[in-house]
Amino acid sequence: MTSTVELNDTNTTSALMQLTDKPDAIMVRGRGSYLWDERGRRYLDFVQGWAVNALGHCPEVVQRALHEQAGELINASPAYHNRPSLAFAAELAAATGLPRVFFCASGAEANEGAIKLARKWGALHKGGAHEIITLEGSFHGRTLAAMAASGKPGFAERFPPVMPGFVHAAHGDIAAVARAIHAGTVAVMLEPIQGEAGVVCLPDGYLRELRALTEARGVLLILDEIQTGMGRTGRLLACEHEGVRPDILTLAKGIGAGVPLAALLARETVSCFAPGDQGGTYTQHPLTCAVGRAVLRELTSDGFLERVVARGERLQQRLVQLSREQQLGSVRGQGLLLALDLAAPLGPAVVQAAFDRGLLLNSPRPELLRFMPALNVSEDEIDEMLSVLSASLAQARAARSQ
Ligand SMILES: *Cc1c(COP(=O)(O)O)cnc(C)c1O
Repeated sequence: MTSTVELNDTNTTSALMQLTDKPDAIMVRGRGSYLWDERGRRYLDFVQGWAVNALGHCPEVVQRALHEQAGELINASPAYHNRPSLAFAAELAAATGLPRVFFCASGAEANEGAIKLARKWGALHKGGAHEIITLEGSFHGRTLAAMAASGKPGFAERFPPVMPGFVHAAHGDIAAVARAIHAGTVAVMLEPIQGEAGVVCLPDGYLRELRALTEARGVLLILDEIQTGMGRTGRLLACEHEGVRPDILTLAKGIGAGVPLAALLARETVSCFAPGDQGGTYTQHPLTCAVGRAVLRELTSDGFLERVVARGERLQQRLVQLSREQQLGSVRGQGLLLALDLAAPLGPAVVQAAFDRGLLLNSPRPELLRFMPALNVSEDEIDEMLSVLSASLAQARAARSQ
């Protein structure tokens, strides 16, 4: 028996597990800041796969890298060396100042690797210390250890028993971290800006103080730059704004600009995996590493990050202006990772109204909108987004006051 799935049957008859409510549209094509659905409707995309499509949809440099590498070698097996992963590891190490690199396929997998590496280091150099301090509100991924690491309320407890070895300290409070460190602590792990929590920034100077604290107390500093890294905040890494280098770093999302690529990086002295400790079928993958090289080349090309800063400032200014006009809350974030506080739980209604007008937005919390456009978004696209957002807000408010 065969059946065809109709467009508007996606939610009821799809064979996919139903995990979140989605609009009925089926996306079929993307270019730059725009997506098209099967009906030919066009959407201006300010979500970009949650900050994943760093260069927008289907960028030519990524198409070319995929095409060329796919014609040479798609997968040799992690048992053998391949040129793209060797070259990309060297280039990423040079760009980040962290000399040891492990490539995998998702952010959660990179964070699992970071947790394992820290525990191994603790076993070897710190008398078996293994506890990792993370921050309240944090999000580190959806595997069991990454969920336990996350400080998002109720998240770790969803699939008991919770993986032990994590404690959460108050966000933005150095003294709270200092109090939580004891002989059994091996590392502090955090996001420079909490993305999923709603673009929650740390106080100025916090990362520098935390770097000094972790050095003084002999524990590792692990930065999860899966969302903030790869140019998103206007520097290659967000920690560069504070002149801080972590002991362990994780990258994903923007590093592959849409292909499943992630990286775990470490200082030489911390890079202590022994043979058999770490691996995976899709590690050091030539196809995704070839893309990673092309993306890094683009992000570090002349003037690219300066343009991210300029576009970020423009978007921020426009959002502040809109907030003033419509009496909304604050605008926060850095570079092209920004959030607008709506001062009321209007998020879902605004996202829906914007979708109907051909604009894709994200509301990580009911009173908040998060903006993660392509890093090469144009000024015109920013202005177009603002005008559709403004109309969508007015519509959502009118509906609410009825
Ligand atoms: C998205 C994200 C993750 C998880 O990455 P996946 O690729 O979805 O596993 C982890 N940490 C942060 C900060 C993220 O934004």
